[in-house]
Amino acid sequence: MQRDAQRRAAPDRGRTLLGPALALIHTGRAPTRSALTRALDVTRATAGAVTAELEALGLITVDSRPAGGGRGRPSHRLAVDPEGPVVIAGQIHVDGLSVALAGLGGLLEPPVQRPLPAATDPVRMLRAVAQAGAELARASDRRCLGAALALPNPVTEPDGTALAALHFAWPSGTPVADLYDVEVGRADHGPLALDPLPTSIANDANLGALAEYRHGAGRGARHLLLVTSGHRGVGGALVIDGRLHTGSAGLALEVGHLTVDPLGRPCQCGNRGCLNAETDPDALFAAAGLTPDPGRPLLDQARELCRAAATDERARAAVEHVIDRLGLGLAGVANILNPDRVVLSGLHLDLLEAAPERLRAVVAERCLWGRSGRVPIVGAELAHSALVGAAELAWRPYLADPQSVAV
Ligand SMILES: [Zn+2]
Repeated sequence: MQRDAQRRAAPDRGRTLLGPALALIHTGRAPTRSALTRALDVTRATAGAVTAELEALGLITVDSRPAGGGRGRPSHRLAVDPEGPVVIAGQIHVDGLSVALAGLGGLLEPPVQRPLPAATDPVRMLRAVAQAGAELARASDRRCLGAALALPNPVTEPDGTALAALHFAWPSGTPVADLYDVEVGRADHGPLALDPLPTSIANDANLGALAEYRHGAGRGARHLLLVTSGHRGVGGALVIDGRLHTGSAGLALEVGHLTVDPLGRPCQCGNRGCLNAETDPDALFAAAGLTPDPGRPLLDQARELCRAAATDERARAAVEHVIDRLGLGLAGVANILNPDRVVLSGLHLDLLEAAPERLRAVVAERCLWGRSGRVPIVGAELAHSALVGAAELAWRPYLADPQSVAV
């Protein structure tokens, strides 16, 4: 009996290490086998067995050739397999649809942008993004293992309904997770894709935060607060020790309706002066007394306005007006959550870059810990964080159990 138990123990231990090992390689924290050995606190032989199994599953590559000019015993270099499986990452935003295939390691293939369909009801929109993802999967020679979608509105957990989808006037409570699953199930992903393809769906700010935490400006943070204004409105998210804090029903960190000016601009929620209405691209144009060109993406034009602040007095005044309100909002959230890093993305990243000291000063002035324990405010690093985050969501079951890719 005892011998049987011991015999089972070794492979079971190896199996339980597969997920943690893959997560370390996936997030770049174990670039060599010796780094993996240290991070997992195992023997070299165990680390070797684990990497051999991940390599056999087609998920990583192990390169034992000596590095150029290096001396001493080579440490095997570990990387995600560039020809390994992919997932479909999708995003719906007010300016269009984006889809990309994504391997492990946060590595996106070039995203494809599509205009919104003429009819913006939930089924047509979800069908359009599901079909755009399926086209990419059919054209790829890599196995496709899942699909996930980022939405610009709150998504409830665990049932996956969209609330306050104000940008598209979707009915509150639209069952987006189920509808997306049906549309992905109907699409043809080609012979290399899992059938049925597992699907998942979440809010874009949450996914962006997860992406920055694992692959971008949030690496190494313990309590990461992300605030973003992508296209319209403002989103927020919190990652605590690697896990998204989504609240009891997926609705935490809706920072967009924090009041930063009681007499300010009207918000879609019916109130005035919400962070949404005071710090998004529309607000910046309003502050400058300018009207954006309706034929071009609003975010691109707002970014140009931020850059113009270096030389143009009107742009400068508008940027400072919006920064002061963003600072009020950030200080309020930081006082409640005590993050150890704040990452800004979308237009908020451009505002930070246009006048970093002003924004940091406004936050420090209002923040309880501002002068003594200044929280670092940094810009996002990823170009497509919502897509990278959607890929994280699709990869989640395989990161938990890498052997499940072998089906
Ligand atoms: Zn509001």
